[in-house]
Amino acid sequence: MSARTVMMTDDLYRYYAGVGFAEAEPLRRLRAETEATQGARAGMLVSPEQGAFMGLLIRITGARRLLEIGTFTGYSALACLLAMPEDGRILCCDVSEAWTAVARRHWAEAGVAEQVDLRLGPAIETLDALLAAGAAGTFDQCFVDADKDNYDDYYERALRLVRPGGLVLIDNVLWDGAVADPADTRPSTLALRALNAKIASDGRVERCMVPIGDGLTIVRTADGRSGAA
Ligand code: CA
Repeated sequence: MSARTVMMTDDLYRYYAGVGFAEAEPLRRLRAETEATQGARAGMLVSPEQGAFMGLLIRITGARRLLEIGTFTGYSALACLLAMPEDGRILCCDVSEAWTAVARRHWAEAGVAEQVDLRLGPAIETLDALLAAGAAGTFDQCFVDADKDNYDDYYERALRLVRPGGLVLIDNVLWDGAVADPADTRPSTLALRALNAKIASDGRVERCMVPIGDGLTIVRTADGRSGAA
């Protein structure tokens, strides 16, 4: 026993996967197709436990207006859609027609395609267009999971696009451990390390970094009801 997060050995992970969460059938099918067709890129899928966690988070918060930056084959969006009623909406940003074609097919099979607004193109352009169109403060939650080099730009735009008291989720913040290795100076690692440090002292938000999947930071924007620190 210790007062820190448990070390997840392979044996413990197998036990955890057996009792800790469930992966809905539409998500299981999407994962299987992505792993069969996307090669090493399938590592970009969020883990099933993270999908379950994100879905439950939506059930808890009652979020209905979601924004996703980096959709890939649509797994995290589908996990969120399955947690929302029919009036829930998600606006998805991605650059890849091929990846999101897989996503659109699976969203349709799951009966949630009408709830998705997919915007293809560089996400910064999409987000700036949303801000210019007056969408600031109109989203309950934003999931940031696109190219890491632009994470700070995505984070700043996400903070403006979610409402006061809304959530911004930032994925891959532990970067397979690289953020804690001073010898790792890849641009992606530097960008993640810099954003993690910035959020750690960001007085605009409350935060907790959750060591699930590849690390998921959850920040809540200030709404005057609780002290961000
Ligand atoms: Ca990710």
